Amino acid sequence: MPGFGLKIVDQSRAQIEPIIDYALAHGAPIEVGLYFGDIQARDLLRSCLPDSAATVAVHLNHRRLSLLEIQRQEAALREQLSAAAELGATSVITHLGNYPMTARLSLRERLWDQLSADLSFAEALASDYGLRLHIENTFHDLAFYRELLDALRASRATPVNFCFDMGHAKVWSSESLREWLAFLLTQRQQGTALHLHLHANEGLIDQHQPFTLASDREGVIEDDFMQDLDWPSALRLIDRSFPDAAKIFEVPPEVAVDHYEQVLAAINRLPH
Ligand SMILES: [Zn+2]
Repeated sequence: MPGFGLKIVDQSRAQIEPIIDYALAHGAPIEVGLYFGDIQARDLLRSCLPDSAATVAVHLNHRRLSLLEIQRQEAALREQLSAAAELGATSVITHLGNYPMTARLSLRERLWDQLSADLSFAEALASDYGLRLHIENTFHDLAFYRELLDALRASRATPVNFCFDMGHAKVWSSESLREWLAFLLTQRQQGTALHLHLHANEGLIDQHQPFTLASDREGVIEDDFMQDLDWPSALRLIDRSFPDAAKIFEVPPEVAVDHYEQVLAAINRLPH
């Protein structure tokens, strides 16, 4: 059911109100980044999300609540999980850390052990609030996440849930989109629940740009991430591969609704 959705952050009521209205009117999933704690924005979210039919996800404030050493942040974690539950969210998303994990192979096992303990701790708390926790890919390549998920799966009784960020994969890994999608399909077969973040990084850094800008701008740097796919075909492939997952566009709020409409129209214009 979920499909393509929209992202908002709790910063400005005026900015997010039209996005929420649009998402609710179109049955689109909504992801809320709890990064700012603006009171009016939170009031608006509390007044319209919990009783809506929308699928709601919450992105934890990853600067404080990344997975590594999250056990030291129990009070802050409970506060955000409780806010997420209050909004009617079913899943929460976080990163592994604010910076890349150690690259040292001799510490790999120790890293997996630490992350496994942190994940078990955070998941136990999340489940108290009826929430499923997803780990999002950031600064590492595909092999790192494959090894991590395998290690976590081997060390725990429950499946690990993953949030695939397409823009992060483009700038922080060398693998292609098709290789990442094959990885996600394998993970799903092993019981992983998926959530997706979609945005265009054209250049050398994490830009969170709309897809609709990407094709007609000058200075686009060619790389081997998309290969033969243009962005409408890539998004349709993602949608068809993961029809039940929430696929959230992470683009600036001022373009969010227009971008959503243009992207869906472009996908619908593709030959079948
Ligand atoms: Zn993301």
